[in-house]
Order: sequence, then C-alpha cells, then structure tokens
Amino acid sequence: MQFLEFARICERLEGISGRLDMIEEVAGVLPRLGDDELPVFVRFIMGRVFPDWSTKKLGVGPNLLYDAVAYVIGRKRETVREAINATGDAGLAVEDLLARKEQTSFFIQELDLVDVYRELGRMAAAGGQRSQKEKLRVAQGLFGNARPLEGRYLTRLMLEELRIGMGEGNVRDAVARAFALDVRLVEHAHQAMNDLGEVALLARRDPDALSRVTIEPFRPVKMMLAQAGTIAGQVADHGEVAVEYKYDGSRFQFHKVGGVCRIYSRRLEEVTESLPDIARQLMEATDRDVILDGEAVAVRDGRPMPFQFVIRRFRRKHEVDAMMEKIELVPRVFDILYIDGESLLDRSLAERRTILEGALRAHVAEQFRVSDTAAAEAIYADALARGHEGVMVKVPASPYTPGVRGRQWVKVKPGVETLDLAVVGAEWGEGRRAKMFGSFLLAVQDQGRLLPVGKVATGITDETLADLYALFKDSVIAHSGKEVTLEPAVVFEVGYSEIQTSPNYASGYALRFPRFVRVREDKSVDEVETLDSLAGRYGGQKNGQGSI
Ligand code: AMP
Repeated sequence: MQFLEFARICERLEGISGRLDMIEEVAGVLPRLGDDELPVFVRFIMGRVFPDWSTKKLGVGPNLLYDAVAYVIGRKRETVREAINATGDAGLAVEDLLARKEQTSFFIQELDLVDVYRELGRMAAAGGQRSQKEKLRVAQGLFGNARPLEGRYLTRLMLEELRIGMGEGNVRDAVARAFALDVRLVEHAHQAMNDLGEVALLARRDPDALSRVTIEPFRPVKMMLAQAGTIAGQVADHGEVAVEYKYDGSRFQFHKVGGVCRIYSRRLEEVTESLPDIARQLMEATDRDVILDGEAVAVRDGRPMPFQFVIRRFRRKHEVDAMMEKIELVPRVFDILYIDGESLLDRSLAERRTILEGALRAHVAEQFRVSDTAAAEAIYADALARGHEGVMVKVPASPYTPGVRGRQWVKVKPGVETLDLAVVGAEWGEGRRAKMFGSFLLAVQDQGRLLPVGKVATGITDETLADLYALFKDSVIAHSGKEVTLEPAVVFEVGYSEIQTSPNYASGYALRFPRFVRVREDKSVDEVETLDSLAGRYGGQKNGQGSI
C-alpha cells in the first residue's frame, strides 16, 4: 500500500463520526493488505508505530520535526513554527506548507507504507551522540518525498497523535469483522500478544491459532488496572473478597527465565538497569521461570516512603549505586501471570495466589480473604495506620485481564477524588510567573482522541511550576497569544470538587475547582481517564459529591 492511500483512508475516517461506520471502513481495508503491510497498517491507524510490548521509542520532539520540514521547504524553522502557531494543528500546517512549496523538478519517490515504517524504525534505533542528526536525516527524507496530505499524517504519526478516533477498541472490532471472527477471540489474543498488528496477521493466516496464543517471557503484558469503589459495594456484589494493602510505589512486571531477568514499568518500558535491587531480591526468591506483577516500594525504618522516592529510582539510569544507598526499594508481589511455560491469565486470582505462594520464597504481598464489610474495613484502617495508600479489594474468582480497568480490582483510598488527565496545552503565567507556564489544559481520552475538560492552575508551588516548565518547554507544538499547544506526553493527577456539563470544552464537561496533585510519571497518555468513565462519574455524583 502506498502511504498516500493510507493518508486518504485517514482523511476519510476523520470525516466519519459514527463508530460503526469507522469500523466498517477499516474492516474493508484489512483483507486486501499484504502480510508485511497488515500489522503496520493496524498500528498506524491507531497512531502507534511499534507494537505495544516493544520498548522502542521514536524520540522525535516538535523541534526536530520543524527542522525537518523547514529543510524540505527551504525555509527557516521559525516559518514552520509560525505556520503551526497560526493553525494550532501541526498536521494541517505541515500539509499546507508542503502544498505551497515551490514546485521543484526533483524526483519524488513514492512513499510506501512499509518503507515509512522501516524509516521510523531507523529513527527509533538511532542512539548515542549523533542520534538527533540521524533522526533529522530520516525525517528530512520522509518529508522530502511526502505529498501534502501525506505530510499531515506523517507529522501526526511522528508526534504519536493521529486524531482520527481509531482507538484500540475500534481496531479490535474491525479485525474481528474483517476476518469474520468472534471479537472475544481477537481480544483474548490481543491480551496475550499485546500487539493488535500481529493479532490481525494471525487472524487472517491461522484464526484457530488465536485461541492458543499465550504470553511469553520478555514480552511485557499490559497491567491489569483497578477502578475506584467501596468495600461495602465489593462485599455486597461478591461475598468473599481478597483484600490487599494498596502500596504507594510504582508498578513493575518481573520476567525471569533461568538466570536471566528483565523488569518493565507500568508503561512497559524496560527498567531492569535502574532496579538492580528489585532484580536481585526476586532472583534470590525463586527458582522457577515466572512473570510476576507487583509494586516496588521505598522503605525506610520499616515504613513506606512516598511514591516520589520510588519514581526517582525508575528514571535513574546512571549512578544507580549511589542512589540505591539513599533509597532502597523492595518488591511487593501480588500476582503471577506465568510459570514454567504456562500462562496463568485464565486461572482465578485464588489459584494464582496459591501458585504465587508456592513459587516465591519471599516478597509476596499480604492478602486477607474476608466475607464481611467490618473485617475488610478493619484491614483498611490498619493499612492507613501502617502508612499505605489504602486497600485493593479483589474478586477471588477473577482471571487476570491485561489492560482492563474493571471492577474485579477495586481501589479504596481516603479523601481526594482525583482524575488522571493528559496535559495538552498551557498558558503563560503572569507577574513573577511570566517566564513559565501558569496553567495547564487537561484532556480526557475518547477512542484515540484527546478532548479538553478544563484547566488547572491551583495547587502548584513556584518550585513545581519551574520544574513543569523544564518538562514542557521542548514539547510546544504551537503558540497562540498566551496559549500554547503541547505534544501530549505528560499525565497530571488532578483533584476536583465536581464534574459539570459544559459547552466550553470539547469533552462536553468541565471540572469545578481543579487542583494539581502530582505528575503521574508512571502513566502514559493512553491511560488517562476516558470520556465514558468521566460521564459515569458525572452520572454517579450526587450534588457535588467529589471532594477537593
Ligand atoms: P491507581 O494508580 O490509583 O489507578 O491505582 C492502581 C495502582 O495501585 C496499581 O497500578 C498498582 O501500581 C498500585 N497497587 C498498589 N498495591 C497494589 C495491590 N496490592 N494490587 C494491585 N495494585 C496495587
């Protein structure tokens, strides 16, 4: 497939508003793609380049992109920046710039979908000191051969935000429809393989094999997630529940085969090098081949330390030893996904727990099986007294569902009602904050789109504002007056007093009294609050029940 055709399909999808029509459109394309094209198309259409399990990163910021486009149109970086500022949409601006580029007699090579993928792979592979130059060279090559419409989607792919509304759910349904398969089968394979691209290929080549695919060590699995809820609600719905402490640390997934292990963060980045102490403790605790799920916590004098200490370690690549002396991390393992060649995803939590206890000599997180609310409340009180964040109330009969935020795991913690939201813009501050951003535009996700829901300026100290400026200054895509558009890459946890409906924001909702709580460095933008879940919270709120 030519990249131009891919771009035309994206353009058509942008014009379709109904979910089913979009699925139909994509389902119509999939069967006619070649074997090498199918996985690439499936990832690209979701705005992703590499499989979700892959730790590869493009590493392209807006500046590199501006430089590449500037080079191709023979203008200065500022011209590109200004054009993007004027439209507020990098994709459309690049399209327009390429359209106005003087006709040259240079030979333009047709861009092919798979070639674009290969080139982006080269960009991701470029490392070391010369990496930016190499990335720039590849980007220049791609834009140099791009027609205007291709430029629009190339830009958005590089910024990893396609904005056409094909999220994972829609693409999964399109794969099922294209190859006449049960959606549950596609979902099963997706959970195990963690890449819809390969699932699509298998769906066409050998659909029977979809039910047999299984998780493998060293290919990280999406983490199972929790919903906010109450102890009484879980006990009423399920009778017996498994209560665990909710540790305030950072999630990790530990893979081990023989004498080799790797550790992945919640965002499925490889963090083995940053966590030698976790690796050592777990290697010493088991002789089996395993995939474990747990939380890394910082401990000082037996008491848990705040989450910020842990996240610092996850980011640390150099001087790990010196840092380790300051902050010791210990693993609390609460689940097992794989043992000695066998996937445990379909086993119940109760069974997995027994296997976990048999496989690991130490570091298994405590779990209490109780059937009445009072007993669970007592554990909750004890958890808080011990300095934990709260408790997790889990359903003993539940399988492990990767990537699913369901009611099988419910988190209960006191106080603040918070949302995790993507930061998509900012506004310059005033007075002593004039050289920094003073407020931030936040968005929820809806099928691959990010829809604003409000701004936050409260709760941020001057020191944090300075840190945030450093974090965002190279991610500015466009300026308009005092406002800037940011490449969406950072997640804020934000408190609020109430969710209201509002015509002012594209999500249709606004937050009353939003208050900054912290940067969720462990979360990626595709993990932020969904529009559906926000609507659910809105519906469930009685007279401003949230709290600040
Ligand atoms: P949240 O990040 O607020 O959605 O809460 C869910 C997170 O709590 C998980 O992703 C884990 O990182 C963390 N967590 C702490 N203790 C546990 C536990 N016992 N079981 C599952 N998750 C836990």
